[in-house]
Amino acid sequence: MLSIVIPAYNEQENIPAAANEIAAVVSALTAEYELIFVDDGSRDGSWQTITQLSQDDPHIRGLRFSRNFGKESAIFAGLKNAAGDCVAVMDCDLQHPPALLKQMYELWQGGAEVVEAVKASRGKESLIYKLFAKTFYRIMRKSSGIDLDRTSDYKLLDRKVVDALNDLPERLTFFRALSGWVGFKSERVEFDVAERHAGQSKWSFSKLFKYAISSITGFTDFPMHIITWSGVLFFIFSLILGVQTLVNFCMGNAADGFSTVIILVLLTGSILMLGVGIIGYYLSKIYEEIKCRPRYIISQKTGTDTHRKDV
Ligand code: UDP
Ligand code: MG
Repeated sequence: MLSIVIPAYNEQENIPAAANEIAAVVSALTAEYELIFVDDGSRDGSWQTITQLSQDDPHIRGLRFSRNFGKESAIFAGLKNAAGDCVAVMDCDLQHPPALLKQMYELWQGGAEVVEAVKASRGKESLIYKLFAKTFYRIMRKSSGIDLDRTSDYKLLDRKVVDALNDLPERLTFFRALSGWVGFKSERVEFDVAERHAGQSKWSFSKLFKYAISSITGFTDFPMHIITWSGVLFFIFSLILGVQTLVNFCMGNAADGFSTVIILVLLTGSILMLGVGIIGYYLSKIYEEIKCRPRYIISQKTGTDTHRKDV
């Protein structure tokens, strides 16, 4: 069986089109398939649309979150509830072309365990967004060795990989990187990002920024090392300055370098604050994880429940 997980947040205009187009491609591949729409606490008519579709078509199922938990949680809820021998994850706005599923499915049949769709082009994005994405990918690559440039959340995963992901105990997840982290035999296919079918991107800048910071800190402790290194740098700097001051003092020409003092105090202060801030961020992540709250809460389900049990 092939499962397709589709996170949806305020996508009532896109859901019927997505269901139609995806089902058209998938039904040509196999008769046994399911489309799982995960309604991430939408405030529009998304859930009603999903319910209606699931009543008309037994292949369609829906999960509804009790509130907006974010796309990551929606993906993981879909993976947990998917029954397929392979599971594809794709966006609801048709920016991930459904036609590509055929190629991905065939690669899976050929033995690939993770089929990643990578962006041949990034589609229409603003300059600021592009710059932001580039910086984020560079930090990720340099610090954790994971190259995420051009990757997307459009993936097809074998059951083994889905089980491995489901078994990860952490709450703060980053699907795009984790599906690479778990390993397995992977293949790549390229696609051009299509334009959004309807509506606007559901990511605000602040939401994206938080997502980026949490992904970086979730994968690398590199920012913490920056603190240590700036400490070392400052130590060397203060040694040099200390020796110079002593020499000046001994030679009796201790200048009244008040400006140096001010600059040093400001600099040390800000670096210390930055350091404490970074450590605080990691601490808050530990706090988040240690609370062991669920990644999401499902409030409703619709459609024929397949055999695998939810956790
Ligand atoms: N999405 C979600 N929860 C959110 C934000 C987005 O489930 O809090 C879904 C959204 O419905 C869509 C996918 O994630 O199916 C990608 O969102 P969007 O198209 O807004 O992102 P972009 O393509 O701009 O990166
Ligand atoms: Mg989109």
